[in-house]
Order: sequence, then C-alpha cells, then structure tokens
Amino acid sequence: LSDRLQAVFQKLGSKGRLTEDDVREAMKQVRLALLEADVNFRVVKEFVAKVTEQAIGEEVTKSLTPHQQVIKIVHQELINLLGTENVPLQEARPGPTVIMLVGLQGTGKTTLAAKLALHLRKKGKRVLLVAADVYRPAAITQLQALGRQLNIPVYSEGTQASPPDIAEHALEHARKELFNVVIIDTAGRLQIDEPLMQELEQIENRVHPIERLLVVDAMTGQEAVRVAETFNQRVKLTGVVMTKMDGDARGGAALSVRAVTGVPIKFLSTGEKVDGNTLEVFHPDRLASRILGMGDVLSLIERAEQLYDAEQAKKMQKRLSKGEFDFEDFLNSLHQMRKLGPLQQIIAMIPGLNQLARNEELLDERHVKRVEAIIYSMTPEERRRPEIIKGSRRERIARGSGTSVQEVSQLVKQFQQMQRMMKQLASKGGKGRGGIDPN
Ligand code: GDP
Ligand code: MG
Repeated sequence: LSDRLQAVFQKLGSKGRLTEDDVREAMKQVRLALLEADVNFRVVKEFVAKVTEQAIGEEVTKSLTPHQQVIKIVHQELINLLGTENVPLQEARPGPTVIMLVGLQGTGKTTLAAKLALHLRKKGKRVLLVAADVYRPAAITQLQALGRQLNIPVYSEGTQASPPDIAEHALEHARKELFNVVIIDTAGRLQIDEPLMQELEQIENRVHPIERLLVVDAMTGQEAVRVAETFNQRVKLTGVVMTKMDGDARGGAALSVRAVTGVPIKFLSTGEKVDGNTLEVFHPDRLASRILGMGDVLSLIERAEQLYDAEQAKKMQKRLSKGEFDFEDFLNSLHQMRKLGPLQQIIAMIPGLNQLARNEELLDERHVKRVEAIIYSMTPEERRRPEIIKGSRRERIARGSGTSVQEVSQLVKQFQQMQRMMKQLASKGGKGRGGIDPN
C-alpha cells in the first residue's frame, strides 16, 4: 500500500499547482492502491469521495505546497477511518475485569493473552490467565509455558472440562485470590463454525467479560472483514487487536475492519516474542502515517513551518533560482536543518528520502560534522567559487579541518554535481522542487 501511495504523492509533488484533473487522477491511483491493499470496496468508495471533495475545494495555504495539502487530507481521512482516537480497555468495577479473547485459529490469541497480561501487570494489575482452549492439549501447555516465562499464573483444568465451566471457575478463583484481571484464551477454528460461536456465547453468559476482543491476523486482508462481522453479531465485540503487524501486512485489514464494523482497534501486536516491545497501544494517527509510508511527514511540515526562517528561505530561494547556490548557502541550509532536529530524524520523516535512511554515511551525524569542518576551513572566496579549490588548497583545507585530501576532493566534486543539478532545476522554473515551500 505504502509504495503505491508514495508514487502517487511523488507525482503530485512534481507539479507546482494542482488542477481538478490532477486531483482526480491522483485519487484514481489512491483508489487502486487501497483496493489492492484489500481494503473493502465500500470503504474505498466513501473514502475517495470524501478526499476528492476536500482536495478540490481546498484553499491552498500560503506556506504549503498543494500536494502536501492533498497528503494532509488523505492522512486526516485515514485517521478518521481508523477511529480518530485510542479507545482504552475498560475496567470492571468492582473487579475482576474479565477479558475474553476470540478469533480464528492461529491468529495469535494465546500469544496476545500473554502480551496483554504483561502489559497490564506493568500497570500494577494482578493478572490471571485462563486456558479455555481444550481442543488441543498443546494449547494449554503453550499458555502455561508463557505463564512460567513471565511469572504469571495460569488457570487450567486440563482438556476434559468444558470451556464455560473453566471460565466460571477461573473467575471464582480470581475473586477469592484478589486478582484484578482475568484473561480468557479461547479456542479458535480454521473457519467460523456454529459450535464455536455457541461456546463463546456460553462463556459470555457465564462470566460477562467486559472486554470481548477479536484477534485478527493483519495479513488476512479482505477476509478479516467478514470474520469480524460474524464474530460481532454473535459476541458483541468491544475491540479488535491486529496481530502480525510486523509482517508485510498491507494495512488494508485494519482499515476495513474498523470502518465496516465500527469496532475500535485497541492494540497492535508486532512480533512473536512476548516482551514489553511487541504490543502497541493503537493510535490511529500513527497507523495512518505508516499506511501512507511517509514517516511522520506532517509533524515535520509543522515543525518546519514554525522554525524555518522565512527571510532566510526567501533569499536562498532567489539564489537557487539563479543557480548561484554556493558553499556559504550550503552551510546555511545545514544550520537550518539542524534547527529541525537531528539529521537522521529529519531524513526519516521525509517521504522518498526515507529510503536514503539506509545510506549510513549520509545519515551519520559525524560525517555531516566533517563536511561542516571542511567548509569552515575554506576561505570565503573558496566557498563562493568551489572550482578554484585545487591541489594545494585541498591540502590546506584537509589539514585545517583534520580530514583528508580525498575527503575534501570528494565533497567539492559532489557539491559541483549538486550545483549543476540545481542550475538545471532552476532553468526549468523551479519545477520538480518538492519539499518545503519557503514562500
Ligand atoms: P492462536 O491459535 O490464535 O492462539 O495463535 P498463537 O498465539 O498460537 O499464534 C500463532 C502463531 O503466530 C505463533 O507461531 C505465534 O508465534 C505467531 N504470532 C502471534 N502473534 C504474532 C505477531 O504479532 N507477529 C508475528 N510475526 N507472529 C505472531
Ligand atoms: Mg491459542
């Protein structure tokens, strides 16, 4: 999903001004991207209609380029789809709080039971895990092993008892022993079937879990919607947990499930390991950004707007358009960037550039420091006219900056390439200039 959307936005970004046709064409692509990512077609239709209406009608603000405006709208609508805000777990008063996990086989219920237990214990709760999947002996030992690993008690009655009985006995035990939270790990099936649904309803009637969480494998896409709808009809769901978000899930499942069922996503599970790092409280804005594949571009824009020195930027813009960018300007823009934060963070936040994040050298703050040192060791004349930096000057600069002649040569060469590129861009009237519009 991300790659496709990035391509759309890159195309938009290459245009200075957007016409209605540009927006419509881009939305066609967004529509395809969403459908390809297995987002439900009803959801896609509504989404695209909303975004198009806003994008065409939107007054382009002075400080942003239009394509960023479109991204912002798409981003905001994604957030709306995903539910605007995190909906926290409810607590039963008086306790114990009973949480029932439901879902198909292999979606990650047992793993989640343990992760959730750990999460709640960190908040000071006494948690009891309940093994109510009696159909596979391995399911019980799996939960027991996790319980031992985390030092969290597991209630079980083996494979002979019925799950509703187990649940009820576990709750009695929890009351007596003053547990705050009871997490019931139920059985799954490969497909939805009637006996399973009846069993879940019986458990529900006996212990009245305040939270009924559906565990959904993020990789299942479109199918997840049907599963969620069915479970929601039988056990009124209070939340959804998307698991395996660490895989290359396309994000479509999460979008659709929330949009179609209206049930909030409460957690994301991001790994097989049960530790403090593989369960995330769900935040719609973060997932929306992840789906857009644009890192945290919006907060970057906001920070840039706050910090970018408008005067400075205008001057630089003028010089750029004349193809006059020199080492002085380069140094200046490095300093401007610094104000925004560490270089690594900035680059990771810029769409397209985040691929560069793999280029170690470029990201290395120490490397940037060396570049700065080299420029500082140049005379003003050299900064303005890099072409005069030859043999003996290179040696002097290398000595002065504590770097090597090769490094100096390389920087000068790279800089000259950049200058040529900028001149070309400038002669095209500033087209192709993405990024922050300084006006
Ligand atoms: P259950 O049948 O619903 O109880 O599912 P399990 O908890 O037994 O998990 C099924 C498989 O998925 C196991 O191999 C887990 O290690 C794995 N798994 C569970 N959650 C995640 C997750 O968030 N990411 C990844 N990569 N694997 C997971
Ligand atoms: Mg299980």
